[in-house]
Amino acid sequence: MEPRKPRLMGKLIKENKWYFIAALICTVFTVVIEFITPILFAETTDYYLLGGDSRMPAFINAWLDGLGGREFMVRNLWIAGLALVGLNVLNGVFGFIKGRTQAIAGENVSLTLREKLYSHIQKLPFSYHVKAETGDLVQRCTSDVETVRRFLSMQLMQVVNAVLMITIALFYMFSENVKITLISMIMIPGLFLFAWLFFRWVIKNFRLSDEAEGKMSAVLQENLTGVRVVRAFGQQEYEVEKFEKVSEDFRKKTFKLCNLLAVYWATSDAMSMLQSMLTLLTCVFFAVRGEITVGTLIIFTSYIWKLLWPIRQLGRILSDAGKSKVALDRIQEVLGAPEEPAEPDAVKPSLKGDIVFDHVTFGYDEGRDILKNISFTIPKGKTVAILGATGSGKSTVVHLIQRLFDVKQGEIRIGGTPINQIDRYYLRSKVGLVLQEPFLFSKTLKENVAIARRNATEEEIDRAVADAAAKEFILDSDKGYDTLVGERGVTLSGGQKQRIAIARTLMKDNDILIFDDSLSAVDTETDAQIRSALKKRSKDTTTIIISHRIVTLSQADWILVMEDGQITQQGTHEDLIHSGGLYSKIFNIQSALEEEFKEENKGYAAV
Ligand code: ATP
Ligand code: MG
Repeated sequence: MEPRKPRLMGKLIKENKWYFIAALICTVFTVVIEFITPILFAETTDYYLLGGDSRMPAFINAWLDGLGGREFMVRNLWIAGLALVGLNVLNGVFGFIKGRTQAIAGENVSLTLREKLYSHIQKLPFSYHVKAETGDLVQRCTSDVETVRRFLSMQLMQVVNAVLMITIALFYMFSENVKITLISMIMIPGLFLFAWLFFRWVIKNFRLSDEAEGKMSAVLQENLTGVRVVRAFGQQEYEVEKFEKVSEDFRKKTFKLCNLLAVYWATSDAMSMLQSMLTLLTCVFFAVRGEITVGTLIIFTSYIWKLLWPIRQLGRILSDAGKSKVALDRIQEVLGAPEEPAEPDAVKPSLKGDIVFDHVTFGYDEGRDILKNISFTIPKGKTVAILGATGSGKSTVVHLIQRLFDVKQGEIRIGGTPINQIDRYYLRSKVGLVLQEPFLFSKTLKENVAIARRNATEEEIDRAVADAAAKEFILDSDKGYDTLVGERGVTLSGGQKQRIAIARTLMKDNDILIFDDSLSAVDTETDAQIRSALKKRSKDTTTIIISHRIVTLSQADWILVMEDGQITQQGTHEDLIHSGGLYSKIFNIQSALEEEFKEENKGYAAV
């Protein structure tokens, strides 16, 4: 991974090279103009006002002689004034172009980085997302990108600016007077070292403050997302305390940082002042002895700041560069995560065939197998139900059918083709999976349903919604299909969300349909209604239903019972209720409950 880093930064700069080149040229011009200004002052004072020697190159004096020479210039001092104003206007223009070009380059870079990250994240395997922290990924796509942008759009040119400033200042100062230059440089190494060491050291505090802010947002986000749980358990006070704690921590760390920065700028200001005083005193001393002219004094007193400022900045920028490097590393870490590999030889067979698990072993983490050498067949076009205790591996089975993970041992085949030879995007497009915890986007109900097929007609949407028994409540809502689902669907009930998720899956052209406990939040009657609509809708679709409800399970053509990652029983409802084991146990419990319920209701009706 290491060798890729410079390449990304280099590539980003290269993609915007014209903007960077323009910014660079403008930087050079602004620096040059800044240096010319004091020289113009010095020239006016020394040559025109005090009658000393000229500093200007011969060709300029020759040209001025053409205009009328010194006499003319002394009579028309406004020309020098105008030249100064003109130069500064020019400086403004160059400054503007520089600001604009580097801003464009910076924005382009952050756009590219964001898009790269986003599209890469879309292609990362599901297993990556299971492990990655959402908040962390968000931070990498936003604030880390912002840090890199800031570096490229401001600090890079600041470095150029500082280096140019220091070089020109030193060069010119040495050519004017070696002694004064040496005295003017006494504090410089100390100042630079102080700046550099300070910011290197303080960077830890920047990170601490960033982390404290991250923690604070995490608490806030968790509280807002889990607002119902907080209220239901009367945890508001605890939550307020928790927030106060992290908020206080953030304040403390940021305050400490501000203090440190204040100390830095004050100390470095004092050092700079001292240096400039020293230079001024030296200049006055030499000027009084007649060793230097007033013009040289003007030049030194203004150049010393041109030297001090960039040196103080440079220390800061260099350590900021460290921050950008960390950000770039974090971005690169995401970009370096391998995508789901391309499979040019993958096939796209019809998935209307038997699904076979052939001695499949699988675990999410090393050393812990979740599915333990399981084998079973789900016959083509049939409805198979899976029953199993929570954590027994039912969802894992269906995730494997969608190839969200690859099996460790054994093989899964659909219609005879091993699943890892089937194009994974094609496979997922043909396997409709209604998740255990449906997720709805903050969009309208209609958009949430149509997301599986964006060019769907009204009739198709209508039919899917009707089959998912969702039509009634949709029509009852304020704006019908156009009702906006709040963030994470908070305005819908669990059963309503499940039904929208089912309708969404039905929009796809499914060869295999899987319901992962997706009918758990609807009543038994609606459950039956949805199942019968499905039967009518897709006669030859292989259907897998995971459920804890015996009524639902009993309707299936075949039932698998899972316990601790293994298939412990399979058969039809009739077979299983008579063969003991988990199925008959649950059947007996649920039947007894139903009887009890009927009894109670009878009594209730009689009253
Ligand atoms: P439930 O009825 O509660 O939905 P399930 O039968 O669907 O349960 P699975 O979700 O398949 O159970 O999980 C089986 C086991 O795998 C559990 O012990 C769970 O902790 C573990 N597991 C599930 N997902 C992951 C994951 N992404 N990483 C690591 N372990 C996981
Ligand atoms: Mg599950």
